[in-house]
Parts: sequence; structure tokens; C-alpha cells
Amino acid sequence: MALAVTSSSSTAISGSSFSRSGASSESKALQICSIRLSGRTHLSQRRFSLKPLNAESHSRSESWVPRASTLTAPEVEEKGGEVEDFEQLAKKLEDASPLEIMDKALEKFGDDIAIAFSGAEDVALIEYARLTGKPFRVFSLDTGRLNPETYRLFDAVEKQYGIRIEYMFPDAVEVQALVRNKGLFSFYEDGHQECCRVRKVRPLRRALKGLKAWITGQRKDQSPGTRSEIPIVQVDPVFEGLDGGAGSLVKWNPLANVEGADVWTFLRTMDVPVNALHAQGYVSIGCEPCTRPVLPGQHEREGRWWWEDAKAKECGLHKGNIKEEDGAVDSKPAAVQEIFESNNVVTLSKEGIENLTKLRNRKEAWLVVLYAPWCPFCQAMEASYIELAEKLAGKGVKVAKFRADGEQKEFAKQELQLGSFPTILLFPKSAPRAIKYPSEHRDVDSLMSFVNLLR
Ligand code: SF4
Repeated sequence: MALAVTSSSSTAISGSSFSRSGASSESKALQICSIRLSGRTHLSQRRFSLKPLNAESHSRSESWVPRASTLTAPEVEEKGGEVEDFEQLAKKLEDASPLEIMDKALEKFGDDIAIAFSGAEDVALIEYARLTGKPFRVFSLDTGRLNPETYRLFDAVEKQYGIRIEYMFPDAVEVQALVRNKGLFSFYEDGHQECCRVRKVRPLRRALKGLKAWITGQRKDQSPGTRSEIPIVQVDPVFEGLDGGAGSLVKWNPLANVEGADVWTFLRTMDVPVNALHAQGYVSIGCEPCTRPVLPGQHEREGRWWWEDAKAKECGLHKGNIKEEDGAVDSKPAAVQEIFESNNVVTLSKEGIENLTKLRNRKEAWLVVLYAPWCPFCQAMEASYIELAEKLAGKGVKVAKFRADGEQKEFAKQELQLGSFPTILLFPKSAPRAIKYPSEHRDVDSLMSFVNLLR
């Protein structure tokens, strides 16, 4: 059975319009080919060398997305042959329609490229791919936590387009360890990054290692904090492709300059199957526990990981959107600005906090945050914590901080109950053991209640 192969009708593309004979949807396509384009891109200077394409079609059992069990680390190869400047290409395509961009992507990469389909409005990508008349491949990450409506959409899409979606699943052992250790809903307590890493990012990484390019539905208007500079095409700044090493993967974002309303006009006009959750107020759709409907006027990303800081809302699939200075880079104690700087916040050394844990009768209670200055959750609570320290100054509770990343991390995990950053501990005056602050609410009032109840 052919994989994600559309009809073989030819498609002629010129400028931002296109024509295609036969199907009734073509006239509709012509109606929607004028799409508002917003914003301009800023592109890196990196270059990427192309390898010859393999344009053979594959059956489901011959999926090009490798299974976890068959993967080996790719060799980093010397890249020869033609060199493509994707910055230049992105500039050329800046005013192109999504259809034109999709056509170019499929033409360049053949079977070495696949559409990443999340089960939401990025179904538009599949429709655009169909309209090119070229064969295309689709993969999706089945995290195990999707809504039933999303699974039904996957099925409807497979039937409508006569394709087989190449599903990627998380590693069963990793999921088992996470859930056994932390429960089914740990992301509400210590952030979504760990669960997303296991259920999404690692499966995605495996998928991309079987490809030379991928196509995403990212748009600039989706998340003003992190997606405002998405180029039409770029060397992927985060993931590696088939050839291995930095620069071995190209990322296409045909919808980068399209506004959400125009995507919906396109979907309606083309009568494309959509996720039933959209009719219930959902806009951006991910896993069931981490997605909720939004109200009219609310930004769509407010329906995702709503309990977290806005800049921490990238699940890792598009981490390259976040600039390093935003501090969201994984576990990297780089030279970043120190936080919790206040005369009322005591900086504890390792010896200092060890002594604190050994004391049985303390003169005062201590509140200590275990932090990493690059962590966005720590940064988000900085103002509250400093205000709290001011309020508690001279009131019998010392407020302190202990930097627990880098070489202190293991010690903090073993001895100080560190799960993720930030971890807040109260050392009461008379109780020997530190009490871990159990909530994600790190505002002054919540922290003050915790201190006053237990000091
Ligand atoms: Fe886990 Fe939520 Fe991320 Fe899905 S979106 S992988 S449930 S944290």
C-alpha cells in the first residue's frame, strides 16, 4: 500500500496562484489562493548541503520513519555536492502562498520530507500537499494522552486522503518510569517539560532522524512570545536529520505568514475534515490533560498549559523558537543573569544548606528556594519571592536561595527533595525535616499562607 500518496494529477503553479484539472475542490482552491500574509522573517546565516532525493513511494510496512528499536546513532558525514542557501530561499518565498511553498518543499525533498500533523488545524498542510499533486508523507506523535476526537480525526484524514499516517509512539519503558515515579499528572505539579520530553520530543527526534526535512503548521500569530520570527524555511536549529549533525535537517513552515482566520477559511472552503473539539471552543489542540477551550478574545495558546508561564509553553518540538536569553534552554547552567537578588534573600552555600538540614531546633524558620537562574519558572516567581522576603524581614522567618543546578543538582535531588525547578522548602523552627511547598501557585499570598501555617 502506498504511503500518503495523492492522486497523480499534475499541478501548475505560477506566482501565488495555481490551477489543477479535475477535482471539484480545485475551483474552491482558486478562491482561497489569496491569503493575507503577515510579518517578516529574520533568518540565520546557516547553510545546508542537499543530498540527492529518493523519490520512491513506500508502503506502510516500509515506513521511512524508523522504529525506536531499529535506531542507531547517525554518523556525522562530510556533506558534499550542491549547497543550498535557505536564507535566500526563504526570502524568495516570503510572499509565496502556502501551496507554492508546499510544492517547493515536496519538489526539493521528495520522500525525505514529511508533514508533522498534530490533529488540529494543521490538517490544512495535508490539503495543500494534496493540491500539489505530488506524493507526500505524514507523521504524527501519538502521546497516549490525546483526546478521542483527535484519534477520530486521524482516522478521518487517513480515509479522506487515502493515506497512512506514520505514527510515532513514546518509549514504553520511559513512560512507565515517569508514571510510576511521578503519577499520571505530574505536569500540573512540576511543569510539562519532562512529560513532553518523554511523550513528544524523543519520539519526534526519532522520526526526524529518518528525514532530511519536515513540514510544520507553525504560524507567527500563534504565540507572540515565541513564534513571532518563524521563517518560511530554515535549517532546523534544534533537531538532526538523516545525515546526522547540525544542519542536517530543514524545517518548512508554509503557514508561517498566514493568519489563523485564513487557515479556517481555507479549511471550510475546501471541506477538509477537522477536529470535533474545535466546535467546542478548542483552538490549539494537544494532549487532553494539557488543552482546554478558550473564550472569545482569548489567545489560542492560553488554552495550552494554562497553569504555566507563557514563555515556557513550547513543548520542545519547536524549542528553536525560544531565544537563549529567554532562559528556556534545557539544563544548561550558562552565564545567565543571577536572580532573587535582594538584601532580604540569603544566598546559601552547599555547606550552609547542609547545616540547615542537620539542625533540630532552629532559632528561626527558613524558607529556601532551590533554583536555576536560567529556568523560566524560577524567573517567573522572582518578583513574588523578593516581595515575600521583604514582608518576612524581621518577622522570625529567614528567606533564602540555593542554586541547585549544575554540579549541585544530584546533591539537591538526593538530599533536598529537588524534583524540578523551582523547589521551595520550609525548614520549620522545631520540625527536623524540611517541608516541600506542594503548589504551583507561587504568588506572595499563597507562599505566605504556607509559611504561616507551618513555621
Ligand atoms: Fe504530557 Fe501534557 Fe506534554 Fe502531552 S502535552 S506530553 S500530556 S505534558
